[in-house]
Amino acid sequence: MSLLTLSFDNGPDPEVTPRVLDVLASHDITAQFFVLGKQLVTEEGRCLVARARDAGHLIGNHSFTHAIPLGEDPRPDAVEAEIAATDALLAPLVPAPKWFRPFGGGGKLGPHLLSQRAVDHLVRHRYSCVLWNSVPGDWLDPTGWPERALADCAAQPHTLMVLHDIPNASLHALDGFIRRAKDQGLRFTPERPSDCVPILEGRITRDITGLVAPGA
Ligand SMILES: [Zn+2]
Repeated sequence: MSLLTLSFDNGPDPEVTPRVLDVLASHDITAQFFVLGKQLVTEEGRCLVARARDAGHLIGNHSFTHAIPLGEDPRPDAVEAEIAATDALLAPLVPAPKWFRPFGGGGKLGPHLLSQRAVDHLVRHRYSCVLWNSVPGDWLDPTGWPERALADCAAQPHTLMVLHDIPNASLHALDGFIRRAKDQGLRFTPERPSDCVPILEGRITRDITGLVAPGA
């Protein structure tokens, strides 16, 4: 039986996240949300994180500004400005262990994702770094993404899918997608496939040279 883990990036959004949480609750699915620090500066954003946490979802750090991938960010304090500044808002809401997902610009994997300083920070603070193996493009095609999503699920034993709880992305087709996935025998799990977690609680679990900018 194939497994599917859902993750939602770039939120929380006051219009969309509550409705995504409702859809997940109606299907009894636990997912993972990778949130942006800039969305947590408001009380409303922090309350949405608390609601997701209380519903049993895992919450991770997805950088503060989501502007430049860490491997391409020239700022000497990029790690502090993106990872640590988000953690300062997130840590009071969400207990350890700490989760981080780098953003890749359209979901691409490669050396632009991380800098060596970012890796050092993640290891020192015992983060788990969570990647993905499916990006069906919900933000590009809010109605058609389930076709690609189901094809990805059919092609591998355990899919860790990136969706987005932002306007004009996954929400419109989410309920229908989950129904089709269940009809096709996919089993939803909050567990992540190990090959999508190159750093686990501060321990580098595999060769990550392809994910780290050289010399950065
Ligand atoms: Zn993102």
